[in-house]
Amino acid sequence: MKLADRVHKIQPSPTLAIDAKAKALKAEGIDVIGFGVGEPDFDTPENIRQAAKKAIDNGFTRYTPVGGIDELKDAIISKLKRDNGLEFRRDQITVACGAKHSLYNISQALIQEGDEVIIPVPYWVSYPDQVLLAGGRPVFVDTDEKSAFKISPEQLEKAITPRTKALILNSPCNPTGTSYTRDELRKLGEVCLKYDFMIISDDIYEKLLYDGIPFANIASAVPELQSRTIVVNGVSKTFAMTGWRIGYAAGPVEIISAMTKLQSQSTSNPSSVAQKASIEALNGPQDAVKMMISEFENRRTYIVKRLNDIPGISCFMSTGAFYAFPNVSELYGKSFSGKAINNSTNLCAFFLEHARVAVVPGIAFGADNYVRFSYATSMDNIRRGIDRIEEAISALV
Ligand SMILES: *Cc1c(COP(=O)(O)O)cnc(C)c1O
Repeated sequence: MKLADRVHKIQPSPTLAIDAKAKALKAEGIDVIGFGVGEPDFDTPENIRQAAKKAIDNGFTRYTPVGGIDELKDAIISKLKRDNGLEFRRDQITVACGAKHSLYNISQALIQEGDEVIIPVPYWVSYPDQVLLAGGRPVFVDTDEKSAFKISPEQLEKAITPRTKALILNSPCNPTGTSYTRDELRKLGEVCLKYDFMIISDDIYEKLLYDGIPFANIASAVPELQSRTIVVNGVSKTFAMTGWRIGYAAGPVEIISAMTKLQSQSTSNPSSVAQKASIEALNGPQDAVKMMISEFENRRTYIVKRLNDIPGISCFMSTGAFYAFPNVSELYGKSFSGKAINNSTNLCAFFLEHARVAVVPGIAFGADNYVRFSYATSMDNIRRGIDRIEEAISALV
């Protein structure tokens, strides 16, 4: 069988692959500690689960409008106004099967053969592949911990060409845990205003910000850019609802209706039951969210400190999301029983085989000097996992 060329342009999601490998070892009875997958370890809050049960019992189990029911769109509109100071109408909102699906629809609706999309590195694994699938060309802008993993206005301007179709911003960021301040976004926005391209603001970690840092996105920092910005968000990360598959996009009517049209010929509406649950998530009490944020913050402080105490590892103090992204390049060149460790893939294989700890290689995010730890796992797992890593590293020569 000859498969379509587009299949060969992309890789399976490396983070999901690591998780599958760790789960397979666990199934064999091996005690693996997983720092691989980026999803909250908490249960979906009780009030949200109840709303879903009620939807099922009330027979809310049929097709809905493709881009989501009005009641959910209204909850999203209120949320965007309340939290971000942004005004949208119903025809500027479309709900999809997760924010990943919203982003996929954006790339399919916007990007043509040869279009360029600016992506800061390290990046979330799906951005480049979604751009490639649409026939576009990712244009990477490198960052490292010296600039807190943030691009500068000068770097942005250098990356812009007449073919630039979009810029993707993700703050707080997966995998680095960095976040942009309003002032930094304003400066990037001033560069954007000189040109004409869309800005995709992936705000999925909006609520997971620590040290009292307030959230900002580029549309709220530079109101003149709202007409060129597509805000993407969802319930997965904030409400521990990864399995429910609800994400949304808010932006100019033209792109929103194109995305909805594409979705009408692919998945149709996202789950009716999950839509009802998401209304409760957005409109209901937020105590569970506060509890989760404070737990994530404690874990962040602990894991970054522990990692920094390990010789050969240096870890950026992240301000958001639930990832630690240490620089491990000092360990490259060392070896274990005669096998050299020269890159993040080698190191993560070593961690899995010898420490029974699953960590994602930085190369998956375009940054081979790093590895990613998701600390969306219990404090006890974090403690034991880092103990194992520390011991494994001390055995390297
Ligand atoms: C998890 C994640 C998403 C997608 O979340 P969904 O579960 O599809 O809503 C999007 N962007 C980033 C950066 C993520 O980490």
